[in-house]
Amino acid sequence: MSIASKILEVRSALPAGVELVAVSKFHPVEAIEQAYAAGQRLFGESRVQELVAKYEQLPKDIEWQMIGHLQTNKVRAIAPFVSLIQSVDSQRLLECINREAERCGRVIDCLLEVHVTDEDSKSGWDVSQLREYLNSGAVAQLKSVRIRGVMGMATFTDDEAVIRADFERIAAIKSELASHFDSHYNILSMGMSDDYPIAIEYGSTMVRVGSYIFGQREY
Ligand SMILES: *Cc1c(COP(=O)(O)O)cnc(C)c1O
Repeated sequence: MSIASKILEVRSALPAGVELVAVSKFHPVEAIEQAYAAGQRLFGESRVQELVAKYEQLPKDIEWQMIGHLQTNKVRAIAPFVSLIQSVDSQRLLECINREAERCGRVIDCLLEVHVTDEDSKSGWDVSQLREYLNSGAVAQLKSVRIRGVMGMATFTDDEAVIRADFERIAAIKSELASHFDSHYNILSMGMSDDYPIAIEYGSTMVRVGSYIFGQREY
């Protein structure tokens, strides 16, 4: 099936209110152009250099999202144009994004990435540290970032019960933290190629689908 038909297939199966982020990392601009021609406008990338290069080459009505681990020294390169940073996993990074956003005269939308699995390989905030940080009230001082919600990943496993438990936990954390934010805090980003239908059952409002649309990545 072509990239365009995959996009249309996935989109037509999503309930109202669930957005599709096409994860185009490691795929060439030609692949993104095919998805774009099918009407796709939200794209996710995991590396800053690649994100910047693609932003420069592709139509300006694309909304580029950063979904991969972000180093503070790379924030400046994407701050002028990134539409959502999903992978905010520390106070230091959030403060850096706030500074760089202010420098560009922007307010940058962010998701708090939470770590809920037993895997060390997964990034994300330790939930008790995140609670502590939010309880400190420090986030209210950051006027150039807007926290839109939570992002999380399930354990890499075939055991569906484990995946369900992980999504349930991410959704519960998102609800628990809501009292710290205003009504713009409305995104629950969870679900990838292999598990997005399950994530939707647990209230996902944003799925990040890569290989199902674009094929296997060549690293
Ligand atoms: C790569 C990636 C995805 C997409 O994964 P697929 O299995 O290819 O759909 C989603 N979210 C994050 C954070 C990623 O790094």
